[in-house]
Amino acid sequence: MAESTAEQAARATAGSKGEKTRKKPPANTLSGKLARLGIHGDAELILHLPLRYEDETRIVPLAEIAAAPAGEALQVEVEVMGSEISFRPRRQLVARVRDAVTGSGLLVVRLLNFYPTQQKQFEPGNRLRLFGEVREGYFGLEMVHPRVQGVTAGTPLPVALTPVYPTTAGLGQATLRRLITRALQGVALHDTLPAEILQQHELMAFDAAIRMLHQPPAALAAEALAARNRAAWQRIRFDELLAQQLSLRRAWATRRSHGAPALPALHSASALTQALRAQLPFQLTTAQQRVWREIAADLAQPWPMQRLLQGDVGSGKTIVAALAMLQAVDNGWQGAMMAPTEILAEQHYSKLSQWLAPLGIEVAWLSGSLKKSQKAAMQEAVRSGRAAVVVGTHALIEEAVDFARLGVAVIDEQHRFGVRQRLALRQKGQTAHSHTPHQLMMSATPIPRSLAMSYYADLDVSVIDELPPGRTPVATRLVADGRRREVVRRVHAACSQGRQAYWVCPLIEESETLQLQTAIETHARLTEELPELQVGLVHGRLKPQEKSAVMTAFAANEIQVLVATTVIEVGVDVPNASLMIIEHAERFGLAQLHQLRGRVGRGVAESTCVLLYSAPLGQIARERLKVIYEHTDGFEIARQDLALRGPGEFIGARQSGLPLLRYADLDDAELVDRARQVAEQLMRDHPAAERAHLQRWLAGREELLKA
Ligand code: ADP
Ligand code: MG
Repeated sequence: MAESTAEQAARATAGSKGEKTRKKPPANTLSGKLARLGIHGDAELILHLPLRYEDETRIVPLAEIAAAPAGEALQVEVEVMGSEISFRPRRQLVARVRDAVTGSGLLVVRLLNFYPTQQKQFEPGNRLRLFGEVREGYFGLEMVHPRVQGVTAGTPLPVALTPVYPTTAGLGQATLRRLITRALQGVALHDTLPAEILQQHELMAFDAAIRMLHQPPAALAAEALAARNRAAWQRIRFDELLAQQLSLRRAWATRRSHGAPALPALHSASALTQALRAQLPFQLTTAQQRVWREIAADLAQPWPMQRLLQGDVGSGKTIVAALAMLQAVDNGWQGAMMAPTEILAEQHYSKLSQWLAPLGIEVAWLSGSLKKSQKAAMQEAVRSGRAAVVVGTHALIEEAVDFARLGVAVIDEQHRFGVRQRLALRQKGQTAHSHTPHQLMMSATPIPRSLAMSYYADLDVSVIDELPPGRTPVATRLVADGRRREVVRRVHAACSQGRQAYWVCPLIEESETLQLQTAIETHARLTEELPELQVGLVHGRLKPQEKSAVMTAFAANEIQVLVATTVIEVGVDVPNASLMIIEHAERFGLAQLHQLRGRVGRGVAESTCVLLYSAPLGQIARERLKVIYEHTDGFEIARQDLALRGPGEFIGARQSGLPLLRYADLDDAELVDRARQVAEQLMRDHPAAERAHLQRWLAGREELLKA
C-alpha cells in the first residue's frame, strides 16, 4: 500500500528537524497526534468529519456587525488605523480598525497574548480579514483574538464553508484541513454499496456525501445546503451502522460455523427438565416459557447458541438457566454457570443444589475461597464428569479446571465480565472436543432496543418482560439526609414486624478505604441506634467465608438489618427484606440504584426503597433521582440512562476496545434496523461489497470483534 499522507507528513516534519526529533516519542509527532484521533492513514482522514462550519466565504460590512446575532462568528475585512500595547487592565495589544471598503465604522481588536509578528500585522494601513465573534466591550464593539489573515484588495474568498474538525492538543485546524484536502484528492471515493441498495434506501452517493461534508459549497442557499447536509450525514451514519452490523453479524456467523453438540429437548417423563418443572413450587411465567422455548430450540442445533437473556431484576432468569443446563445433562453433557461475585455464585449454588439434589444431580462448587484440597476434589468431579452441573466465580476459568463434556455455559451478569473471561469459559468446552459449548449470557441491566440491536448485534436476544406474580411494587421515597432519624425509626418499625432491611453505604469512588471506613462507622452507629435488633455488616474486604456467613445469617433472619457496601448490588435474593435504605443515593448510577431497589419487593410485604440524599443536588444527580423515583420499569430506566449518559459509558466493560459509533446516534432505531437488513443482504448477495465496506470503516480493528 502506498504511504499515507499522514505518514509522509510525519516523516517530513521529523526529517526537517533532524535526528533528535526522530527519536522523540511518537505522541509528539504529527502521526502521533493523528493517531490520538484514531487516524492512521488517508482512508481514516477522509472519515474524520467536521463538527461544524465557519463561513469565510462572505464579508460582513462593518456597518452591519452590530446587528449580527450574538455568539455567531463572522468575517470582516478591515484596514488598521492604529494599534498600541496597553497595560491596563493587563498587557495586551489593542488595535483600532475600520471597514476596508467604505473606510467607515470602528472596531476594536484585542490580543491578550501576541507575538511580534502579530504586532506587525496590526501596523496602520494594513488590510486584514478578521474572523471571530463581535461583542460589546469596554472600548465599544470589539473582537478578542480573531483569526487574522493579511490580504490585499481583491484576494479571493474561499468558495466552500470552512470545516472545523475535532482535534487534539497541538494539532491545528489548518494542518488538519490541509491533510484532509490532500487526502480527498488522493483517495478514490468509490461507493461500497451497490446502486440498487442506494436507490432502495434513498441514500446519497458516498463520494458526494463526503465532499459535501468536508467542503460544503457556499453557493447553495442556506436551506438547500442544510438539506444536502442532512442527506450527507444520513449516508455517513448509515455506513457506520452498517459497518458495525456487518462486523458483528460476521462474528456471529463465524462462531455459528463451529460445531456444537446438539442437545434436543427430551419429552419423556424421565427428562430432568420436565422433572424440575414438575417439582417447582411455582409456574413459569408466560415470558419465562417463551424465552425457555427459544433457548431449548437453540440447544437442539448442532451449532453453538449465542444468546443474551435479558430480564429485569427478579424476573426469574436463574430457573431458565437451570433448565438450560439440565437439557445438557439430559443429553449426557455438563452445564456450568459463572457469576461475578462470590455472594452471588454461592447463592446460585445453594438454589441449584436445592433444585437439583432431589433429581440426583451433583452440583460442584468452585470459588477462590475453597481450600486447596476442596478445590482439587471439585476439579476432579468436574473433570471426571461426575458433577453434571458446576457453579462458581472466576475460579471456573482457572487453568486447572477441565470439563469432561461442557455442553452449556451460562454467564450471569455478563456485563460484569470482560470479553476475555467470557471467551475463556467458552474455550473450556473446546479444549477436549472440537466443538464449542452453547453459551447463555444473562443480564439484569436492561438494554434499550436500539442499543441491543446495534452493539449487541452479535448475539441473539431473549427478553423476560414480565415479573412473577405476587410481587408488591416497591414504593420509592426521596428523603434528605437531615431526616435520617425518621428513617432509622422506620427501620425499627419494619423489623419489629418481622421484616428485614438493607442499609447501603455511600459509594466512594475515589477511595475504597474510605468507603470501608464509612461502612464500619454506619454499622457501629446503627448497632447503637437499634439495640433490639441484630445489625450485620458485609463489605468487599471480608473473606469469602465471612461474607457468606453474614449472608446466611441474614437469609435466616438472624440478622435483621444488613449494612452493606455495594457488594449486594447483584442478584442477592432475601424475600423477607422489605426495606432498602440507600445513603447518598445521588452518588450512584441509575442502573445501580435500580438493581439495589430490586433487592426488595420480592416477598409479599409492602416494600419501600428510601433514597437518602444530601442537598443541594447537582443537575445530573437531580435528574437521575427523578428517573428512579418516577419509574420502576428497568427498560424505561435504561432508556433514560442511555439518554443521560450516551452509549459509550452505558455499555461500559463489555465494549473494552470495541469501536464506538462516532457519528450515528442510537435515537434513530429505524436507521439501525435498515442497516441490519442491508447487512444481511450484503452478506448474502454482495460479498465483495461487504469486504470493501468493512475495509473502509473498520480496517485493522476487526480482531476486536472475535469475542
Ligand atoms: P433474576 O432474574 O433477578 O436473576 P431470580 O432468578 O433470582 O431473578 O428470581 C427471583 C426470585 O423469583 C427467586 O426467588 C425465584 O425462585 C423466584 N421465581 C422465579 N420464577 C418465578 C415464577 N415464575 N413464579 C414465582 N417465583 C419465581
Ligand atoms: Mg440473577
